[in-house]
Amino acid sequence: MNKLSIRDLQLKGQRVFIRVDFNVPTSNGVVGDDTRIRETLPTLRLAADRGARLVLASHLGRPKGDSFAERAAGGPSLRPVAERLGDLLGRPVAFATDVIGESASKTVFSLGDEDVAVLENVRFEPAETSKDDAERVAFAQQLARFGELYVDDAFGAVHRKHASVYDLPALLPHAAGDLVRNELSVLRQLTSDPARPFVVVLGGKKPSDKLAVIEKLLDLADRILIGGGMGYTFLAAQGYEVGNSVLEADQIPAVKAVMAEAKRRGVELVLPVDLVAATHFAPDAEHSVVPVTAFPADREGVDAGPQTRALFAEKLADAKTVFWNGPVGVFEFPAFAAGTRAVAEAVARVDGLTVVGGGDSAAAVRALGLDEGAFGHISTGGGASLEYLEGKTLPGLTALDDPEGT
Ligand code: ADP
Ligand code: MG
Repeated sequence: MNKLSIRDLQLKGQRVFIRVDFNVPTSNGVVGDDTRIRETLPTLRLAADRGARLVLASHLGRPKGDSFAERAAGGPSLRPVAERLGDLLGRPVAFATDVIGESASKTVFSLGDEDVAVLENVRFEPAETSKDDAERVAFAQQLARFGELYVDDAFGAVHRKHASVYDLPALLPHAAGDLVRNELSVLRQLTSDPARPFVVVLGGKKPSDKLAVIEKLLDLADRILIGGGMGYTFLAAQGYEVGNSVLEADQIPAVKAVMAEAKRRGVELVLPVDLVAATHFAPDAEHSVVPVTAFPADREGVDAGPQTRALFAEKLADAKTVFWNGPVGVFEFPAFAAGTRAVAEAVARVDGLTVVGGGDSAAAVRALGLDEGAFGHISTGGGASLEYLEGKTLPGLTALDDPEGT
C-alpha cells in the first residue's frame, strides 16, 4: 500500500515526532561508527529547513530492568548521540533526560521553529517493547502529546512491533522519511524483476537466522553463494567433516531441504571448496588452509580459503544484481578477514545493482576500509531488510500505510 512522504506534510511551525534509528555502537559514552546518524541527516535537514520543530526518539542497545529508573541507571544513554548529532547538523540539539517525563515535556514544549530535541533512549521505558498491546498503546499516547505529526525514518526498527514504531503512527498524521523510502525502493528493485543474473551471497554465523530468507531467495535469485559460519552446516549436510566449526546440527534436515529445493528450481548453490582452519577462536590462533574434503577434526573454520575466494569472485563477476548479507569469515580478526574482503571487493566490482544488508556486513565494509561509494546501497537495517525479503509483514511499515498516499 502507499505511504505518504515527509515531503507531503505541512511542516512549518509543527512539532514533528521523528522516530530515528540512532542505535549506533557506543562504548563508555563515546559514539563509534556514526553512519546511522549521518544517514538520517537529509530527513532532519529537510524538516528543519521547512520550519518544523523536531522531536527525535530512538532506541539504543537493549537496556534491562523493570522500570525507567532501573534501565536508565544501567543502560546506554542517548546523550552522547545527541551531542554527535549537534556536531553533524551544525546546530544546537536539546536533550531530554527522560522519555515522557518532566524533562521531555519541558524540552519539547520550549522548541521554536527549526529547533531540534532528542529524547532519552526510548527503551528506558519498558512499555516501548511490551508484548501487551494496551501497555504499548498507553505509552504511545504519552509520546503522541509531543508531536502534531509523526515521521518514521528508522528503517532499522520497522520490523519491530514497538510503541514508537507501530502504535504511535496510528495516533498521529504520519509519513515516511527519506531514509525509509530509499531503503524500500532498493528492496523493491530486488524483489520485482531484478536484472539477471541475480547473485546472493550469504554468510554470518547461524543458518537458523537465515534459512527463511534463503527459501524466499530461491524464488528470486539465480545463484546463492553460502559461506561464513552458516556454511559449515551446509557442508555437514553434504557429509563433510567440519571439526569444531560453528555447526547447528539440528538445522541439517532444513538445510538438506533447501538444497534439494534449490536443485529442483535450478538455482545454483555454491559452497566453499577450501577453508582457513584455526586451532581455536582467537585473533592469533595458529591456522592453515584446508580443502573441505579434508577438514581436521580438531580445528575450527574461521574464513574462506583462497580457492573459495576466487570461486566466489568468479560467480559474482557476471552478476547484474547482488544482495550480500553476512561476512564469510571472522572478519573482526584481521588474520581471518581475507575472505570477507575478497567478497566485498568482488561485489564492489559488479556492474549492476549491489546491495549490502546486515549490520556486520556493513561494518565489515567500513572496517576493511573499502570505498562505500562502490556499492549501490548499504542498508541501515539488517534484520529489517532480511524480513522484507522474506516477505514478512513489517509492523512499522504497515503502520505507515495511507490509502491516500502516493
Ligand atoms: P549481518 O549482521 O551482516 O547480518 P551476521 O550477524 O549474520 O551478519 O553474522 C556476522 C558474524 O558472523 C560476524 O561477527 C562474524 O565474525 C561471524 N562469522 C562469520 N564467519 C564465521 C565463522 N566461520 N565462524 C564463526 N563466526 C563467523
Ligand atoms: Mg549481525
